Amino acid sequence: MPLHLRILCGLLTGIGCGAAARFLFGTSPFLLDFTTYVAEPFGRLFLRLIFMIVLPLLFSALALGVASLGDLRTLGRIGVKTFLYTLLVTSASVLLGLVLVNIFRPGEGLPADTRAALQRTASPVSPPATDVQENPVLRTLVAIIPDNPLRAAAQGEMVAVMFFSLMVGIGLALSPREKVEPFIKVLEGVYEVVMRLIDLAMRLAPYGVAALLFTLTARFGVTVLQPLLAYVAVVLGGLCLHQFVTYSLLVRYLGGMSPGVFFRQISEVMTTAFSTSSSNATLPTALRVTQEKLGVPRDIAAFVLTVGSTANQNGTALFEGVTILFLAQFYGVELGWGAQVFVVLASVLAGVGTAGVPGGSLPLMVPILQAVGVPGEGIGIILGVDRILDMSRTVLNVTGDITAAVYIAHSEGRLRTPAV
Ligand code: ASP
Repeated sequence: MPLHLRILCGLLTGIGCGAAARFLFGTSPFLLDFTTYVAEPFGRLFLRLIFMIVLPLLFSALALGVASLGDLRTLGRIGVKTFLYTLLVTSASVLLGLVLVNIFRPGEGLPADTRAALQRTASPVSPPATDVQENPVLRTLVAIIPDNPLRAAAQGEMVAVMFFSLMVGIGLALSPREKVEPFIKVLEGVYEVVMRLIDLAMRLAPYGVAALLFTLTARFGVTVLQPLLAYVAVVLGGLCLHQFVTYSLLVRYLGGMSPGVFFRQISEVMTTAFSTSSSNATLPTALRVTQEKLGVPRDIAAFVLTVGSTANQNGTALFEGVTILFLAQFYGVELGWGAQVFVVLASVLAGVGTAGVPGGSLPLMVPILQAVGVPGEGIGIILGVDRILDMSRTVLNVTGDITAAVYIAHSEGRLRTPAV
């Protein structure tokens, strides 16, 4: 059975058994002991396996992601346009997600006592030194730059680590390639190893998710899960809006193409992205369709789509923004404007660092959660429903790359009338 189905089974088994246990044993000490000493520690084990790899992943993914943007320089104007377009459209998608999550507040339906109990049982998140909610703006800004990156890493100051990784990436992009090649190779090696470890940890996911959801429902009843459905609806709603409204406007006004024609021509790409959940796996189809059916010249299509398949991840960024705010609402963590602006920036960055593979964005979300003071266990709650969200956000990731290619070809006066 494919992993995502096993995780879904884990989710349903955890919920079913948790609800049944609560029905049979209520708040008896036996059930309390079982969740405290068996189910919960097991769930935590699985999560800690993922947390363990976050640091090397964050460092290698971000540094490599930014270093690969170094190629942009060689392409001059097209590179700059791709970069600006990626930044603006990704930010727009995260903003859209945040507006929706602020309007619908999917994480909030819980009774006050359940929420208070949830907060008590969640593992304490030590507020990082760069606590964006409480510190005055200036102090926060200064703390983003670590005076000692190793200490920042050891103390879990993820924002500072992100900044350091980013700077390393910029340094790599600006250095002569032959000199930094060995270091890039090392980073690629680290990244590879980390990806394998995540694969291994994910094999435990069905059991880990079952244990975490068992603990949750046995302690608080199934009503605690209602917000999860609202969350799925908000993510899917946001993705649909961005896909069909934002992209239609961009294609019409920046790409000079009718949105109807655009979506008809790329339907094959959208289905491939949806079924594979992977921007990388969709790249060959996207390349062919963009050239043959949309009339984008080969050099532009090859460059924009290849860079885009890792760096331009609009759907992923929207999903990350919504998820972080949802989990903050779920655990009753108040995120003010400063923190939300941070979430936008971090989600855009995470979009750049995320690999175009199924579930590629999940590990990178952990440091952002921790940076804003939300318990990392939240990841366990959304894992069970992630597959459908992953399939849907990948469609946006790929469509976003194609809109960028159309815009750039059009702005260069090189968009041909498609042969079909
Ligand atoms: N599956 C996504 C992609 O390939 C990445 C992610 O958001 O997990 O584009």
